[in-house]
Amino acid sequence: MKARLELLPIDVAGEWRPGNGEEYESLYPATGEPVARLRAASPGDVDEAINRADRTFRNSGWAQMLPHARAAVLHRVAALIRERSEDLAQRQRLDNGKPISETRALVASAAGTFQYFAAALETLEEAITPSRGAWVTMSVHEPMGVVAAITPWNSPIASEAQKLAPARAAGNAVVVKPAEVTPLMALELASICEEAGVPRGMVSVLPGKGSVIGDVITRHPLVRRVSFTGGTATGKHIARIAADKMMPVSLELGGKSPTMVLEDADLDHALAGVLYGIFSSSGESCIAGSRLFVARRIYDEFVTRLARAAGSLRVGDPSSERTQMGPLITAGHRESIERYVALGVSEGGRIRSGGVRPSGAGFDRGYFYTPTILEGLANTARVSREEIFGPVLVAMPFDTEDDLIAQANDSVYALAAGVWSRDFKRAWALGRAVQAGTVWINTYKQFSVSTPFGGWRDSGLGREKGREGIFQYMQQKSLYWGINEEPLAWAR
Ligand code: NAD
Repeated sequence: MKARLELLPIDVAGEWRPGNGEEYESLYPATGEPVARLRAASPGDVDEAINRADRTFRNSGWAQMLPHARAAVLHRVAALIRERSEDLAQRQRLDNGKPISETRALVASAAGTFQYFAAALETLEEAITPSRGAWVTMSVHEPMGVVAAITPWNSPIASEAQKLAPARAAGNAVVVKPAEVTPLMALELASICEEAGVPRGMVSVLPGKGSVIGDVITRHPLVRRVSFTGGTATGKHIARIAADKMMPVSLELGGKSPTMVLEDADLDHALAGVLYGIFSSSGESCIAGSRLFVARRIYDEFVTRLARAAGSLRVGDPSSERTQMGPLITAGHRESIERYVALGVSEGGRIRSGGVRPSGAGFDRGYFYTPTILEGLANTARVSREEIFGPVLVAMPFDTEDDLIAQANDSVYALAAGVWSRDFKRAWALGRAVQAGTVWINTYKQFSVSTPFGGWRDSGLGREKGREGIFQYMQQKSLYWGINEEPLAWAR
């Protein structure tokens, strides 16, 4: 019999101990085996963590530290992530089943994010605004207090770093609520922050069910901002609570992103970009290019090549360097994807590739699914409109660019888009006409921490990354500094 896993402590504002909530196991999606056993936070733990975080924020001196000194701590966080990168990448693989090549890239991006926001903090400038009287006027930014980061399961270390780094740089205490099924990376990051010199209590990691723990965090009166990444329905729920508290929120939500292949595109590049855009991360990516529009004249040739290439993708063991697609996150999520594929077929769609679970050795216990291409459906079909969040692409031909843009923009989502064309003027025009927070031209799903990211419409509110990203976690204050020689005239 296998030894039972040790109970993993959670971080209740610097106190590392099991939570008082339900006990559960986090499973490796490739085998269904437990990789961690923990007790979730209880609502009481949340209240305790937030109260202590608020006290630490006020008393620890972190918020008052000079920017270069605070930045030095963030640089240490980046260095520690790099020192432990292989261990972190292996743990993230176990936590959410992504292939090791991807989790290594996510760990590197997390280190880069801390480094970037350390630099942003150290070089941040406040404004002296043009004076219109006998005062010097200034606009400055102050930390908010306790802020919350609520994250999904698809890219834990990167999405958590994306919130923790700017929030900490801004001087706040941060309460992180990772997805229930992927608690490990946030706990690792919190422990690294402590080791790097962030005062104990300034970071908490409170795993548990979103509808319980996430809700208590969002409603807590001492939580001054929520930065949320996850589904649109959850985001809207959080926004309603935030409205009652007059609390600012940033919401990074779902997508149904169009990729457009024009007839003059470099088809080898387009093929690689479309495959990577939808099937990397098993399609569990908010920016997955899940709607494909191809110029009718090249549609058959392109989709035939695409289907062949999708059928040859290496699906399997996430620990292998060669694996391109690992399992899906849970058995339940795979069932939801299977229901969507069946729905697509019932709506009149044809499966050009995949549409089944892979069989054979290595696939019997994990939550694997094959890269799937559906065609013969309109942009109005449910599988073309709803976010599937899995390896399912809907391919459609288009006739004119006006028709293309009308269809691409006909979605409640507007997170990302891709344009493939050799004609820079057409690509530019389409890139400007498509409604999306990020547009990739002749590439797809590339990221830079120095470039703002976020969605329009149901894909979200606010922007992460970029120098401005730090201001999401600060409040603006205007200062008037009187330099009158005489008392104010009115009182004379
Ligand atoms: P989800 O909305 O179910 O959960 C996200 C997080 O919110 C989890 O930590 C969850 O526990 C928590 N949560 C759930 N209910 C809550 C509530 N009532 N109050 C507070 N918190 C609550 O999403 P998911 O299934 O974990 O992730 C998939 C979704 O995330 C997809 O829609 C995807 O597009 C989106 N996503 C968006 C981005 C982006 O940057 N735009 C990035 C990654 C994922």
